[in-house]
Amino acid sequence: MEENLNVLVSTQTIIHEALNRLGYPEEMFELLKEPLRVLTVRIPVRMDDGKVKVFTGYRAQHNDAVGPTKGGVRFHPDVTEDEVKALSIWMSLKCGIVDLPYGGGKGGIICDPREMSFRELERLSRGYVRAVSQIVGPTKDIPAPDVMTNSQIMAWMLDEYSSIREFEAPGFITGKPLVLGGSHGRETATAKGVTIMIGEALRRKNIALNQARVIIQGFGNAGSFLAKFMHEAGAKVVGIADVHGALYDPEGLDIEHLLDRRDSFGTVTNLFKNTLPSKEILEQECDILVPAAIENQITRDNADRIKASIIVEAANGPTTIEATKMLTDRGVLLVPDVLASAGGVVVSYFEWVQNNQGYYWSEEEVHRKLEQLMINGFENVYHIHSTRGVDMRLAAYMVGVRKMAEASRFRGWI
Ligand code: GLU
Repeated sequence: MEENLNVLVSTQTIIHEALNRLGYPEEMFELLKEPLRVLTVRIPVRMDDGKVKVFTGYRAQHNDAVGPTKGGVRFHPDVTEDEVKALSIWMSLKCGIVDLPYGGGKGGIICDPREMSFRELERLSRGYVRAVSQIVGPTKDIPAPDVMTNSQIMAWMLDEYSSIREFEAPGFITGKPLVLGGSHGRETATAKGVTIMIGEALRRKNIALNQARVIIQGFGNAGSFLAKFMHEAGAKVVGIADVHGALYDPEGLDIEHLLDRRDSFGTVTNLFKNTLPSKEILEQECDILVPAAIENQITRDNADRIKASIIVEAANGPTTIEATKMLTDRGVLLVPDVLASAGGVVVSYFEWVQNNQGYYWSEEEVHRKLEQLMINGFENVYHIHSTRGVDMRLAAYMVGVRKMAEASRFRGWI
């Protein structure tokens, strides 16, 4: 039988199992298996050549029993409705695991920002906010950056929202530039969170960070900052990959040079000859493997060839259910996406709190608080993993789903 690569179906399968193990009735699964709300929008944009192009976008709100929904907006040609739905469910789980007062949301627009001008991107970002403005807001649903969106796009979205609402509302969106109410540490937050998770995993495996060899697939926001942090901490980054290909050197790569030459979409390997195909980097010798790119990279077809003893998922959905099982059976410690990549939303939460109180924290303060929430999340998941004998992904789902299930029950929805 073909392995199922639909991320919505696989996420539903694990949620079902998590709810069963926690003893919830089938009705709870019926409530949580799909987002409460999904809005599809069509956004007309005047392109630089004078023609109008109509883009399709989505905003999914998974569950708002705990609090407003929260999650990024991605700009990518492969965005689909099912993917946005799955991503909104993952956001609910992330918020549950690190204990934020939010449910999950997610947005996406089918487009290729690499082929659009600055002004076209601005018009698209503003058009998206006008299209979804009725269902978002600082106490309803709070967007943020995701794949191929950044602080400039958040700034345009904020500006559009404040002109529609006619008041300043910095808490409408997170991942903003510092001067518009952004938080210190937001840009590096996902990579910092992954770094903290790597530290916890290494402790469980008794490996020292400065002895560890690391491979990172993906050189976008998370992957590139992570390469920097690993390099600065004395680990040997032996492999990196982007959409064009991969570089591997058992002696360690020149990370400073690669970061210097990387473009704003995270590509650098196109400058080199003799690169490996991006997916082959996963199978090279290393201690820690960090998939920081896209979905379904580790499947039952290559799981047996992975050599790392620790996998920390910085991307959303990089490993399938079957591959997770195969790796866990071989003793690989896998820190799943819904835990490992939660650093971004944690600091987004801090940004929103700072916006609400109008008082801003130092980078050290943000980092200390991030560390606390991430380590608590890891310990809770690891505890369920070791006491209930379930893999780390199922353990993370069990921790993540509990709060929204309880909140839904208290509200009388189930
Ligand atoms: N897009 C990021 C994620 O997938 C961050 C979301 C946020 O900051 O709200 O976790």
